Amino acid sequence: KDIEELIEKLEAHHNIDKEELVTLLALEDPSKIYQAADRVRKKYVGDEVHLRGLIEFSNYCSNTCFYCGLRGPNRTIKRYRMEPEEILQCVKYGASVGLKTIVLQSGEDKYFKIITLCKIIEEIKKLDIAVTLSIGELPTKDYAELKKAGADRYLLRIETTDKELYQKLHPGMSYENRVRCLMDLRELGYEVGTGSLVGLPGQTLEMLAQDLIFFKKIDADMLGIGPFIPCENTPLEGEKGGNVEIVLKMLALSRLILPDINIPATTALAVKDKAGYIKGLKCGANVIMPNIGIDEYKKLYKLYPGKVPDNPSEAVNNIENIKKLILSQNRTIGKDKGYRKKILN
Ligand code: SAM
Ligand code: SF4
Repeated sequence: KDIEELIEKLEAHHNIDKEELVTLLALEDPSKIYQAADRVRKKYVGDEVHLRGLIEFSNYCSNTCFYCGLRGPNRTIKRYRMEPEEILQCVKYGASVGLKTIVLQSGEDKYFKIITLCKIIEEIKKLDIAVTLSIGELPTKDYAELKKAGADRYLLRIETTDKELYQKLHPGMSYENRVRCLMDLRELGYEVGTGSLVGLPGQTLEMLAQDLIFFKKIDADMLGIGPFIPCENTPLEGEKGGNVEIVLKMLALSRLILPDINIPATTALAVKDKAGYIKGLKCGANVIMPNIGIDEYKKLYKLYPGKVPDNPSEAVNNIENIKKLILSQNRTIGKDKGYRKKILN
């Protein structure tokens, strides 16, 4: 009874405190949370699912995040960088299949000059396509230049809001700088996406509840939340990894506290669970990000195992399959650029 009241209150007012979130995250049967999230999703952002075409343009990275296969010290992966022309070819393919947003993602690769990235952004914008960047932490002035060139959105997950855990997993990086980046991006007028990795070693439900409170506090426009999948040749290779059910609870609760934002059913969720996209879409998600890069490179962007099946253009990334899957759930394909609708205030 108490739980039902709590979910009703959350569905009506989108407010909740940390202890209540922990209670909901610990629920054995979360079906009521999922149903509430699905209703709120329908009411605020409708049945449209927005497709964002992901291009992973470099797997070089100077950081050493403990969970990630692209970390600099991992000498076992072959590194690549795409040429601007190759990136634009992929963009054109995306445009030809009706995509209205391109996400440019990479490791933290100092090789690409800001001016080069600006030129690529300007070319993409000529096609009337929104540009999302996910290229890590940069100085304020670089974010400003990229915005001026036309970038619309930026994805930078906080990964975990537990400072101690953050510092443990990110040697040489600082939690304060991560938050500074998010504040800069907001200030500069980007739509700001953040999110967490679920199932990091040492992460508790209290920490995940705190992540949700943080998302609400900074009023995130997008939230990418996925399971941590242990990757070989990283310090966390022997760990257990994230649980799908907890990821779904995090998606559903994100939808309930921030009803009008964009929430992807992440690739990691689809890799961890064959029905991951469908489950995500039923628990509040309204975005899918198919990979539209070049097959040869997709194989090398190995954050975690299982990401690219033997035939990379099949399975989780195939746009036609994804469109069919969306329609099979009685949802529609988004036709516009899919900005946050900002229904509340
Ligand atoms: N380098 C940029 C950054 O870190 O923001 C963008 C690329 S990074 C590969 C994108 C996201 O991949 C990270 O935010 C992290 O959450 C996720 N990731 C990295 N390793 C992962 C793993 N082993 N399992 C699941 N997700 C992972
Ligand atoms: Fe580099 Fe991003 Fe991977 Fe960290 S998560 S090692 S910054 S690519």
